[in-house]
Amino acid sequence: MSLTSVWCEPDLTAQGRQVGWIRVEHSVHRSAYGTIAIPFAVFANGEGPTILLMAGSHGDEYEGQLALTRLIRSLDVSRIRGRILVLPAANLPAVVAGQRTSPLDGGNLNRSFGDHYTDTPTGQIAAFIAEELMPLCDVMLDLHSGGSSLRHLSCSYADLSCDPAIAARTFAALEAMNAPLSWAQAGIPAAPVAGRAALRKGVMHLSGEFGGGGALNAADLNVAERCIYRLLDHLGILEMAAEWRAEIATRFVFNTQAHFTYAPGEGVFEPLAAPGDVVEKGQAAGWIHRPERPEDAPVALHFASDGIVAVTRAMGRCLPGDCLFHLLEETPRAAVLAGIKALK
Ligand SMILES: [Zn+2]
Repeated sequence: MSLTSVWCEPDLTAQGRQVGWIRVEHSVHRSAYGTIAIPFAVFANGEGPTILLMAGSHGDEYEGQLALTRLIRSLDVSRIRGRILVLPAANLPAVVAGQRTSPLDGGNLNRSFGDHYTDTPTGQIAAFIAEELMPLCDVMLDLHSGGSSLRHLSCSYADLSCDPAIAARTFAALEAMNAPLSWAQAGIPAAPVAGRAALRKGVMHLSGEFGGGGALNAADLNVAERCIYRLLDHLGILEMAAEWRAEIATRFVFNTQAHFTYAPGEGVFEPLAAPGDVVEKGQAAGWIHRPERPEDAPVALHFASDGIVAVTRAMGRCLPGDCLFHLLEETPRAAVLAGIKALK
């Protein structure tokens, strides 16, 4: 039998609780037969759906990593129906470094799910998730935040797919998560993100952005946990605790390319709006200053669309092309449902 460069120690067919490792071969000077040991938990109990819960695709996004770490330590497998696969630190080298990308190969795991996988550690992790884990799953939930460079209002997210029946089921799951902002996008993502691989394999793809700015925020962690446990309840896998039952008001949102503001030049970014502000097209958004050229006039920035400020840049210095703001635009629930009915 030939050996593989990535393998999973927990038995994916076994019942019960297992916490172990996915090993990625990593042969380097100080460890010729070394491996990257990615933590992986499997909870299985009888008949029911399978869900993949994933965090740490980006190493500097902490709320999801903590929510899943707590879940692994606290979940009683006898209470579930079905199977929960948990990857709390999916791109482990990035997680340990506290960086968006892997220090081993510069790889961005959530841009590694393209038509071909690279032979780098990050590419091999993506290949294992997409080709070995996703085919076992009915649903995946991938937890993100704004990372070091962005602050992100907490929101749940769903790729609705192009199929009306799948889109309707996905929207029902998104609504059940009951985050303060429920962000739905029709179609299949064009970028090589996990959602594209999931939809191509017929797996319902849910995600979310929970905080950012390079730090852990307790309120955003709470929203992430609320989304996880409400989704597990909705799927019939685990009855949620009383603390997650109360419904909160949610706003349904979408985005287009016009909802982004990018830096036109290098300098110091001065925002004139904060996460949660509601802004209008043409409204002053901020300034780019050049302290290194104090006689240069600052460059004025304006929003190109109406929307809710969902993202602001968390770093002062910017280079041309950096994202400074990202808006999400509110839309009625009925409009989302009408869009799903119109899918062909
Ligand atoms: Zn992320």
